[in-house]
Amino acid sequence: MKSEKGVFWFRSLQTKLSICILVTNFVLVIFSMSLVFDAVKVNNRANRITAINRCSEFFFLTIEALAFERGRTNVILSEESPITDANRIFIEERRVQADKNLSIGLEKLNEIDPVSANLLQSEYAKFLKLRAKADIQAEMKFAEREAAFADEWFANSTTFIFRIKETLAVLGKKELIIDDFDLYYQLQLACIEFRLFSGYSGSVLTAAISRGTTIPGEKYQNFIESRVKADYIWANIDKDMAELNNPALGRKSDKVFQEYYNEYRSFQNEILRQALAGKVPKDTVQRLAALSVPAFDSIFDLIAEVSVENRNYVEQMKNKAIRGLEVALLEFFLVLAFSVFSLSYFRIMLFSPMKRIINALQSIVNGQPVSNLETDAKRQDEIGWLVQGVKMLQVSMEEERRLKAKNEILATTDNLTGLYNRHMLDQEAERALAQADRYEDPISMIVFDLDHFKNVNDTCGHLIGDEVLKQTAQIVKKLIRRPDKLFRFGGEEFLILMPKTTVDEAAAVAEKIRVVLEENKHPYAGQVTVSIGVAERYRKEFFKDFYKRADDNLYRAKKYGRNRVVRSIVAAVNMIWNPEWESGHPEIDRQHQKLLERSKELFEMSMLSNSEFEKVLTMLETLIEEIDNHFSSEEQILEQIGYPDVEDHKLIHTQLLTKAASLKNYYLQDEISTSSFILFILDDVVLGHMLKEDKLFFPYTQKKT
Ligand code: GH3
Ligand code: MG
Ligand code: MG
Repeated sequence: MKSEKGVFWFRSLQTKLSICILVTNFVLVIFSMSLVFDAVKVNNRANRITAINRCSEFFFLTIEALAFERGRTNVILSEESPITDANRIFIEERRVQADKNLSIGLEKLNEIDPVSANLLQSEYAKFLKLRAKADIQAEMKFAEREAAFADEWFANSTTFIFRIKETLAVLGKKELIIDDFDLYYQLQLACIEFRLFSGYSGSVLTAAISRGTTIPGEKYQNFIESRVKADYIWANIDKDMAELNNPALGRKSDKVFQEYYNEYRSFQNEILRQALAGKVPKDTVQRLAALSVPAFDSIFDLIAEVSVENRNYVEQMKNKAIRGLEVALLEFFLVLAFSVFSLSYFRIMLFSPMKRIINALQSIVNGQPVSNLETDAKRQDEIGWLVQGVKMLQVSMEEERRLKAKNEILATTDNLTGLYNRHMLDQEAERALAQADRYEDPISMIVFDLDHFKNVNDTCGHLIGDEVLKQTAQIVKKLIRRPDKLFRFGGEEFLILMPKTTVDEAAAVAEKIRVVLEENKHPYAGQVTVSIGVAERYRKEFFKDFYKRADDNLYRAKKYGRNRVVRSIVAAVNMIWNPEWESGHPEIDRQHQKLLERSKELFEMSMLSNSEFEKVLTMLETLIEEIDNHFSSEEQILEQIGYPDVEDHKLIHTQLLTKAASLKNYYLQDEISTSSFILFILDDVVLGHMLKEDKLFFPYTQKKT
C-alpha cells in the first residue's frame, strides 16, 4: 500500500490529480455519449419521417386521381347520354394512377402500420365494387340508371377518399413531436381537404349544368357549405404560408390562388346565376371541366412542393445527426488525447521530478550522493527553483556533516599528540568498564607523568617541551597492544586503559614503558623519565575510585624517587591465599588467612550498592580491632622466637594503625571513599604488609618449625 517514499497511495497528490483528470474526462465522455445518443435519436426520427413521407406521397397521388375520378364520374352519372369516349379515357387514366399509387402506398403503409393498411385495403375492396357498379350505370342512359346512385357514388367515394386522408392523419400523429415535419404534413393534409371540399362544390355545379337543370335545394346547401369549408381551409393554408415565408411554396400557393380562385372560382361565380335558373349553355360544362383540371392540379403541385421541403427538412435532420456524431467523435478523441496528454504531462513535468526531489532529499538525509537532478535544475519554473533549493540544502548539509566530523575528531583527540583526550576517556572508560563487568574480565590502568618536566620547559622552551610530549606519546603508543587505549590525561600526564589485563600484566607493560623512555634521549631535552602508577579494577568499582588508586600509586612513585613503577598488589581476580605468603608459623598463618578472609568479606560487602554505611563502618572497626589483636599476637610470637628486628616491626605496626585511625577519620568526614579506605586496609595493612615487612621474619618462623 505504501510507495517506496512512505506516502500512502490515496494521500498521494499524483493519485488525487489523476482521479480529478479522469473524473473530468469521464464527465466529458458521458457528455459526448449523450451527443451520440441525441444524434442517433435524430437520425432514427429522420428515418421514420422519411418512411412516412415516402408512404404518404403515394397516397397523395392516389387521392389526386381519385378526386378527379369522383368528380368526373359524378358528372357522367348526371348526364343524359351514356359515357363519352373522352370521359372514359379521362377516368381510365385517373384509375390507373390511383390504383398504382394506392397499391404501392398500401405496401409501404403495411411496413409502418399493418393494422391501418389492412383496414384501408378492405375499404378499397368495397370501393372497387362501387366503381364496378358505376361503370355499369355509366353505360346506361340517365332514365335507365338507378335514381339515387349518383349520390351514392359521390358520398361513398368521398368517404373512401376521406378514409385515406384519415389514415394519413393517423400516420402523421405517430410522430408526436411538433416540428417542421408536423407543420408540412398538416399543411399537406389541409391541401387534401381543400381539394376535396372545393372538388365537391365543383362537382355539384358541373353535375347540375351538364343536364341543364337547376341545382336542387339541398344540393345547393351542400355546394355553399363545401365552398365555405374550402375557403376556411384555404385561409388557414394561406396563414401557414405567410408564416413559413418560403419563396418556392409561396409561388406554388400563388399558383393555386390564381388557378382556383381567379380562374375556376370566378368562372363558377359567373355561371352560378344561370345555373340556378337552369339556363347554362351546354358547352360551359367543358369549359368548367377544363378550368377545374389546372386548378386541382395546382393544389397537388403545392402538395408535391411541400414534400420537397419536407424532404429537405429530413435531409437537414440527417445532416444534423451526422454533425452531432462528428462532434461527439471529435470530442471523444479530444478527451482521450487530453487525458493522455495531461496525465503524461503531469507525470513527466511534475511527479517524476517531484519523485526525484524526494529521492534526493532522502539521499541527503542518509548522507548519500545526490544524482539525476541536472536536467531539472536547468528548468525555469517552480521545479527548477525547488531543485536549486535541494542543491543548496545538499551543500549546507554536506558542510554541516563535514564540520560535525571535524568537531567530533576535535572533541575526542588531543591537538598536540593526536592521542585521545580526556573527553574521550569518559566515554571509553564507561564502555570498557561495562564490558569488563559483563564478561567478568579483568581491566587495568596505567597512569604516568613526566618527571621534572617543568625543567624541560624552563631550560629548552615550550616548543621543545611539546616535542618531548609528542615523542613520548609516539613511543608509548608503539609499546601497547591494540585494545589498549592511550589518553593524554593532563599536561604531561598520560593514562592507558587496558581491557582483559591483570595488574601483573599491566605492571609488566608499565615497566617496559619506563625502561624504554629512560633509555630514550631527546635531541635537545636529553633523558626524560616517567613515574608510573598501576592498578587493576575491582569488580563493580567506580571509575573515579579505580583511577584514584592508580593515581595514588603514581603519587607514591614520585614520592619514592621518580622513574619507577608503583603497582597495587591485589588483583581483583586472585584475592585468594597465596602459598608465598606462608610464614611457617601456624598461628601467624592462621591469623593472616583469617584477616585476608575478613578483608575480602568487608570488601565485597562494601561493593554492594545497598550496603549501609553504619554496617560497613562497624565491620571496618571490627577488622581494625582484629588487626590490632593480630599485631599484638604476632609481636609476642616474634619476641618468643627471638626475631632480632622485632622493635622495628612493632614500630611499623604502630604506624599502620595510626594511619588506619587517621584514614578512618577522613572516611567519617567523607573525605575519602569507602573503597579507598578499605583498599588501604587490604593493600597496605594486610597484603602489602604481609608481603613486604612480614616476609622479613619468615626465615625465622620457617626455621623454627
Ligand atoms: P614532577 O616530576 O613532579 O611531575 O615535576 P614536573 O615539573 O613535571 O611537575 P609540574 O606539575 O610541577 O609541572 C608540569 C609542567 O608541565 C608544567 C607545565 O609547564 C608543563 N606542561 C604541561 N602541559 C604542557 C604542554 O602541553 N606543553 C609543554 N611544553 N609543557 C607543558
Ligand atoms: Mg606532575
Ligand atoms: Mg611531571
